[in-house]
Amino acid sequence: MRLARSWTRGAAAGRHRIFPDLAGVNLARRLAQPLPQRGLTPARLLAELKRDLLPFLRDSGHPAFFGYVMSPPSGAGVAADLLASAFDQNLTAWRSAPGPTEMERLVVDWLRQITGLPEGSGGLLTSGGSMATLAALSVARAVKAPAGTVRGGLGLLGDRLMTLYSSDEVHMSVPRAAQILGLGTAAVRIVPSDARFRLDPAALEDAVLADRRAGHLPFCVVASAGTVNTGAVDPLEAIARLARKHRLWLHVDAAYGGPLGLSALHRPLLRGLEEADSVALDPHKWLYAPLDAGCVLYRDPATARAAFSARGEYAQIFETGERESFAFFEHGPELSRRFRALKVWMILKYHGAERLGQRLAEEMALATHLARLVQNHAELELLAPVETGIVCFRYMPAAARRGAGSRAVVPDERRRGGRGGDDRGRRAADAIVDRLNQDLLLALQRGGRVYLSNALLRGRFALRACLVNFRTRRTDLERLVQEVVREGRRLTTADRGRS
Ligand SMILES: *Cc1c(COP(=O)(O)O)cnc(C)c1O
Repeated sequence: MRLARSWTRGAAAGRHRIFPDLAGVNLARRLAQPLPQRGLTPARLLAELKRDLLPFLRDSGHPAFFGYVMSPPSGAGVAADLLASAFDQNLTAWRSAPGPTEMERLVVDWLRQITGLPEGSGGLLTSGGSMATLAALSVARAVKAPAGTVRGGLGLLGDRLMTLYSSDEVHMSVPRAAQILGLGTAAVRIVPSDARFRLDPAALEDAVLADRRAGHLPFCVVASAGTVNTGAVDPLEAIARLARKHRLWLHVDAAYGGPLGLSALHRPLLRGLEEADSVALDPHKWLYAPLDAGCVLYRDPATARAAFSARGEYAQIFETGERESFAFFEHGPELSRRFRALKVWMILKYHGAERLGQRLAEEMALATHLARLVQNHAELELLAPVETGIVCFRYMPAAARRGAGSRAVVPDERRRGGRGGDDRGRRAADAIVDRLNQDLLLALQRGGRVYLSNALLRGRFALRACLVNFRTRRTDLERLVQEVVREGRRLTTADRGRS
């Protein structure tokens, strides 16, 4: 416990290196030991941990860690996880863990309220957004598949595909789910996104109609509420209308953006989310829960039972009351499940929805501030509009800017259509800037003082900063910009020195 506290204090104060400066083989060698035959004293164990593990963590809670949409854990959540381990409850069903099961159902209902789904919707906590989406798409498939396929399998469909639709900015968990579910990755129809990286509803409808004409079975559309690359929110209301019209299951991947429903100021961004048949939402992404905490919500929990009905005699439930006979394994793929609800419960109880919503709003404002710093800097270029808490940009020395030409926040579609030599010139210049930014990213990550990740936007390499950390202040953003520019200049001069 003391170690947890001192680690957290170090993270909060920004005292740790964000990323270790050690090659993988050296790290492996350092940990390598034969299977321990005799136990150690707690003091020795702790000493080994401090020596062989602590210096080699990536500190995602550092105020200057902007790498991923992964908020640092609230202390209440950390304490809850420790308690959950001590209690060691197995949340398969009410019978195995009565109090914790009721607590999870309550917590899931609180999360439902954040999304605006109607009362009576329900679901369960998962390891994360990927599992939530896998569960949701299993249900969508079971509900929308022609009669007999839940038992007989998709082979009964012959050459016909059960197709689903999403934008080109969709998270990889969607094609992966299609792969795991045997739908085939080809069944995921990628609909182009618009200039703001949002799914284009007209293109969606065209794709659905084309597949119908070809004899396929369109069954589902996956919209994003906060895409992984740029944080864009798809036009959920328009997509919901089309989903109803074409009888498609609407799954909304709100793994990252869902918690914005807590901020009164930003709730309107999610309008239409309440129309979904299922939603994925990760408390470990932007609700300050320690990993792992995802959630899947079903508009009609009874639909889930169509997908998760297979069971063994040992799981027979003899209780008949509505609450006593409740089983999470009828709503998702897992049987044994950890008491994840405790940390989400503790976080919401300890901080309160109001304070959490305010903090989310502050992080949204930080993203806007960073975008402004980028736009006001002659050597930086914003590569996507800031829709939520993600800022995508690149370093662009003045000389390269003349070649690559763009000063476009939103890449101009026309410029992508071939314009002969002009276009080739731009592509070549872009390739140089891409390489420069790749080197820059690696140098920053290795430096261990700030941490960014990357995105590929319309073929351009972008530095990606995610603002999901309650420890981040404006000064951290100013330092980030300084570090990027300093590293960019260093690389540019080094390059010129070589040629
Ligand atoms: C992170 C993320 C996921 C996947 O969630 P995991 O918890 O990593 O499984 C899915 N969709 C979006 C938009 C995400 O940001």
